[in-house]
Order: sequence, then C-alpha cells, then structure tokens
Amino acid sequence: MQVQWYPGHMTKARRAMKEDIKLVDLVIELLDARAPLSSRNPDIDELGRQKARLIILNKADLADTRANKVWETYFEDKGCTVVQVDARRRADMKPIQAAILSACREKIERDRRRGIKNRPVRAMVVGIPNVGKSTFINSYAGRACAKTGNRPGVTRGNQWIRLSKDVELLDTPGILWPKFEDQEVGIKLAMLGSIKDDILNTDELSMRLLDYLSVRYPEALRERYQLPEEVYGKGPAEIMAEVARLRNCLLKGSELDYGKAARMVIEDFRSGRLGRITLELPD
Ligand code: GDP
Repeated sequence: MQVQWYPGHMTKARRAMKEDIKLVDLVIELLDARAPLSSRNPDIDELGRQKARLIILNKADLADTRANKVWETYFEDKGCTVVQVDARRRADMKPIQAAILSACREKIERDRRRGIKNRPVRAMVVGIPNVGKSTFINSYAGRACAKTGNRPGVTRGNQWIRLSKDVELLDTPGILWPKFEDQEVGIKLAMLGSIKDDILNTDELSMRLLDYLSVRYPEALRERYQLPEEVYGKGPAEIMAEVARLRNCLLKGSELDYGKAARMVIEDFRSGRLGRITLELPD
C-alpha cells in the first residue's frame, strides 16, 4: 500500500511520532537492506535523540549478502546495534530480544543503580511505508496483532504488547516519510516499490535498473534472461530490447512490447527472482 505524502500529512506524522517516542526507551528502526540510506527517514536522528536505537536491516533475504555485512558494519561503527532479518521468518526474530537488551544496556544499568527492578524496556518500531513494519511486529510478537495499513497520523489508542518479562512493544508502528527531496533516493525507493512509481514512468525506472544491474550484477541478468554477452556494453535500451525479445514480450504483429518487458524486469527485481541485489553501498 502506498502513501501519498504532502506537507500536512508529514506534519501530522511527525507530531504523532514525537508523542509516541516520548513513551519509549528504544526506537527500532527498520531499513530496507537493499537501500539502507535511501530508506532511512532524514529526521529520525533528531526525533530519536536520547533514545536507545536498534537498526533492523529488513528484507535482508533480498539483498546482497556481502553488502549486508558492509551495511551492518557501517551502522555498528556509528554506535548502533544492528540485526539483519527477513521479517517474514519467525526464526529470524531469535536474536532480537538480545539485541534490544544490548541496545538498552545503559538504561537497564541506570534503573538498576536507582533500585528499579523488573521495569520492562519499552520499544516502538518505525520506518517508511512498505519496509516491513507490520510483518516484523507480527513475527516478533508471534501473533497477528499488528494493524496493517499505512495511515500516518490517525488517532490511535496505544496498546503495549508484552513480548517477554523484559520487553514491551507499542502495537502500532510509527510511519516515517522518506527523503523524497533527493531524486536519486526517490528513484531507488520507486524501484523497491516503496513509493509510487510516478517520479519516473516504469519504462524509465526499469531502464535505470537495467543500467545499474548490467554494471553491478551482470551475472544476475545473465542467469535470469540468458542475455548474450555482446549486449552488455550496448546500454540499457538495447538490453531492454533483448529482454523483450528473449521473453517474447510482443505487441500485435511482432513489434516488441517494451512496457511489458519493463514491468517484468521491475517485478523480477522486487520479488527476488533476479537474485539478491543491493542498490547502494556506503560512500
Ligand atoms: P509496512 O508498510 O512497513 O508495515 O510493511 P508490511 O509489513 O506491510 O510489508 C510490506 C511487504 O513487504 C509485504 O508484502 C511483506 O510480505 C513484505 N516483507 C516484509 N518484510 C519482508 C522481508 O524481510 N523479506 C521479504 N522478502 N519480504 C518482506
């Protein structure tokens, strides 16, 4: 589901987030492992100041394993606790409890010094639309209690889900707006399907993706479409034509159906059929 952001929307989302963040000790920030910086909200450092932070590199199953490691180190170097997950898998939730306690060790230690015992850590999940917040909460809480839907700023009664004797989670995730003022970011988010594709039409988006893949992941294209070697140097339009030809994307007559090929490439990428791909690395 996609949210159309506009200034009023953002103001409301920011206000709701500010209120919710006051209630918690820990902010669990979900990023898309395929584009961790692009899927990061620009204001979260400010909003989450003075809170413990846990970064979840979600959809790690769709991202390049080596790149996942690079990103993990990148965020750890910034002092964050980081866990890679496929939020759909319950088994991937195992390390979360320990990561939460590790991220909150200062608070736990402070409580202990003050003689406060058994006060659970309170946490909330935040992230841009479609990053996997509801899926994560459902898997982690182990039952279907996260409300789905992406309406920022709706009034809600906060419910706490007791996850263990040490951790309570706010049942509704905080929805953050993406960095859309940066066009490159917008393009990556559109490739991921996190924001509407109308920054670029699908043909252009797909062409950009093919261009990137032909440089960074030529073997993925080779494997999926059996592209002949000589096509790689010829640029994305030629690659798209070849994909359309090889995949029989044809209009009436025998004209190539570029639109169909473009949608197929984007879908193949989003679903993981093109293999594990990451769209950006740290500078
Ligand atoms: P939200 O808008 O942040 O709450 O995102 P959702 O939880 O609704 O997830 C958006 C889509 O991503 C759904 O189709 C999920 O099944 C899918 N999804 C969520 N997490 C993962 C993951 O770790 N791996 C994969 N492959 N898909 C995921």
